[in-house]
Amino acid sequence: MTWMDMTEREIADAVGAFGVPNFRVRQIAEWLRKGVRPADMTNLPKALREQLDTIPFGGARIYQKRVSEKDGTVKYLFELEDGNLVEGVLMRYSYGNTVCLSTQVGCNMGCRFCASTLEGCVRSLRPGEMLSFLAEIERDEPPQDGKPRTVTNIVLMGSGEPLDNYDNVVTFLKRVTSEQGPNISARNISLSTCGIVPKIYRFIDDAPHVTLSVSLHAHDNETRSKLMPINKAYPIEQVLDAAGTYAERTGRRVVFEYALIGGVNDSERDAKALASKLRGMLCHVNLIPLNPVKERGLNGVTRQHAHTFLGWLEREHISATVRREMGADIEGACGQLRRRVLNETRG
Ligand code: SAH
Repeated sequence: MTWMDMTEREIADAVGAFGVPNFRVRQIAEWLRKGVRPADMTNLPKALREQLDTIPFGGARIYQKRVSEKDGTVKYLFELEDGNLVEGVLMRYSYGNTVCLSTQVGCNMGCRFCASTLEGCVRSLRPGEMLSFLAEIERDEPPQDGKPRTVTNIVLMGSGEPLDNYDNVVTFLKRVTSEQGPNISARNISLSTCGIVPKIYRFIDDAPHVTLSVSLHAHDNETRSKLMPINKAYPIEQVLDAAGTYAERTGRRVVFEYALIGGVNDSERDAKALASKLRGMLCHVNLIPLNPVKERGLNGVTRQHAHTFLGWLEREHISATVRREMGADIEGACGQLRRRVLNETRG
């Protein structure tokens, strides 16, 4: 067990074992909630800090950071205690700042267009590691204008499939929304899934206030199965049923991500077919011009074409937007920065 993964109770027990008074237990718990390492717990005696360091901390450190000159987007590469590298992104919007967090090192889902999955999933992240990403970002980019915190919104859209790391992700969501923790409102959090249907139903019960995004990318099983192997296990009809259940049960719109791939899913016929599949559902479509990944051999579309596709959907009365492109100059898309650094260090 690491410090960052412990519950309040477990912290009290672990600290208690060092024979320290209760007020110290409270001090330590407070530091840990802020993601601070024992060495930086400035109000503790040095000997106690060294005792605490005999238990692994279980957090992340910033290994590399790149700032976009275009829009101030910050791309982080975090190093975990076992040496694994994983990405996170801070994006600045007028309403606040959103961080995009990873849930696994790599990914097992095998989507054909995605860089994160090229070498499979190395391991899932623990709740304490995901909390630590947030704490490191807050420390690295402190809040401005007297605001209490830098990060107002979270999207679980980095590398990994969050519902393939279900228990850790749900524990993370409980802790990150807790008043004793970062206290980020569940309404400001989105989770994106490739469509693991049974887990979507569980998720509706466990985290009804979190926004659900579903990576759809196609309107028919033939195309979707080619792009996303998970579709062979859970075909599109089942994915849409689960998404519809989320919308009905929560009264909130489900967001469908649709990466536009040149010549694959970007025609007017595709827009019409997609609209007919979604008609009647409380939903929104997020169009993303595919970010071509060198190894993948699929083409993107121009932003102009994405807007044309948007027009076709709107004509069918489907709510949609083209996703703003952030950090294009710093390999903002998931998996790309980690891949480049791994390739470089491997020579
Ligand atoms: N595994 C989850 C979380 C990843 S979220 C999921 O599949 O939803 C990242 C989003 O970016 C997903 O919608 C994913 O399909 C999409 N994506 C991955 N690679 C991309 C690329 N090269 N260009 C555009 N979108 C991509």
